[in-house]
Amino acid sequence: MRKVLIANRGEIAVRVIRACRELGLRTVAVYSEADRSSLHVAMADEAVLVGPAPARQSYLSIPNLMRAVSESGADAVHPGYGFLAENRDFAQVCELWGVKFIGPRPEAIGRMGGKAVARQTAQAAGVPVVPGTDPVAGAQAVAAAQELGYPLMVKASAGGGGRGIRVVEGPHELEAALERASSEAQAAFGSSELYLERLIVHPRHVEIQVIADEHGHVVTLGERESSLQRRRQKVLEEAPAVGVTPALRQEMSDAAARVARAVDYVSAGTVEFLLDAEGRFYFIEMNTRIQVEHACTELVTGVDIVKEQIRVAQGEPLSFGQEDVQLRGWAIECRINAENPARDFAPSPGVITEYRPPGGPGIRVDAGVAAGSVIPPFYDSMVAKLLSWGRDRPEAIARMRRALDEFRIEGIHTTIPLHQRILEDPRFLAGQVHTSLLEASMMPGPTRVT
Ligand code: ADP
Ligand code: ADP
Ligand code: MG
Repeated sequence: MRKVLIANRGEIAVRVIRACRELGLRTVAVYSEADRSSLHVAMADEAVLVGPAPARQSYLSIPNLMRAVSESGADAVHPGYGFLAENRDFAQVCELWGVKFIGPRPEAIGRMGGKAVARQTAQAAGVPVVPGTDPVAGAQAVAAAQELGYPLMVKASAGGGGRGIRVVEGPHELEAALERASSEAQAAFGSSELYLERLIVHPRHVEIQVIADEHGHVVTLGERESSLQRRRQKVLEEAPAVGVTPALRQEMSDAAARVARAVDYVSAGTVEFLLDAEGRFYFIEMNTRIQVEHACTELVTGVDIVKEQIRVAQGEPLSFGQEDVQLRGWAIECRINAENPARDFAPSPGVITEYRPPGGPGIRVDAGVAAGSVIPPFYDSMVAKLLSWGRDRPEAIARMRRALDEFRIEGIHTTIPLHQRILEDPRFLAGQVHTSLLEASMMPGPTRVT
């Protein structure tokens, strides 16, 4: 492997470029017409235009990306997260072209890509799943819902990023929910397949980072808590998770490793679970890619997950074993989005007129922007990730508060004020978090019920 094309933009493209540089690999950025002046384009060794602003015609266009691969002579592709990162066809096309896809094999993506199928795989591996159904439709869905009981969730098999999910409180809401979820999923993900899951009340979202090589080594890197969510999208994450005992961590890690082994998983991946008030955990999905919040785990384990992902893609064995993994201290990540919290989180595209990131002890900023950056309205609103590390949770929190106060971004609105509010909340400080906490009690406006 000599030259890596990064089929993505923004923060994760910058993150991958940094890993490649440390490994002595050349980098190729791709960009749409809206991203000509982006940071990832400036930082890469080369850059190739892949189409107009709409993602379908650029970052999601497999033909355009493969043209960029051959034009640049890249011999590997890193898909980042979002866009084509969990697209089996993209991984397959790369393989056919003799270009290394830095991720799992197409078969593994296929077996985990549809969430309904992934549930079956997890169950067969002896891992508890949320009580639910196989794919359902029409009258069959009504009968299945009756049997499962309410409240329940209608979920799109192909869903992601918190979309394609609907809560159904009772039978009277079912039909409308099925209809809306299927048309929404068809439009957003190109598949209308749905399944039902029992609604777990006030669960925590706890996930296990996995990394595996081609030599049969599967290593887990502990858990992350991603319970602070808005519209089922993560807002703030931490590692480890409050109150997760070594015994529970071991149990969840073993379950995650079983899921990974069941699909002969290679590369970095995350097995997501819901944890209920009684301490029972249930598999919900596996993300077959690097995740946004991977850096929390990097801070508490010292492992560079992206570099390891690239090494593994080159056929090398993992540079460490399970016995080398030790969790040290506490890490928190705040997702800084170009959104206006005072206006119901409306997107806030525009030009960053002033940019002064925080620094000092225990602070890491992974950003896709700099002073003068233009935030286009076409893509995900996340512009930077602010991470803090401390010897314990209170120190990580104190550093995060200090860093949020230092962070100056002018010209656009950001979610910094929301994070400042979270970091003052007594329930957050006490570690009493669950997936509805943020929306139910920390947001301005009327109380929302999930
Ligand atoms: P993570 O699990 O890494 O926290 P998110 O759910 O926040 O990831 O998603 C990261 C990015 O990927 C977001 O831009 C999100 O919109 C996008 N994304 C995730 N899953 C899908 C999917 N199935 N289809 C399209 N975009 C997705
Ligand atoms: P996505 O692919 O969009 O990330 P997930 O299946 O991971 O979808 O679910 C996203 C979030 O939705 C979870 O973190 C959780 O907050 C909520 N959720 C999903 N399934 C359930 C469930 N059965 N009960 C309660 N909440 C759920
Ligand atoms: Mg998820």
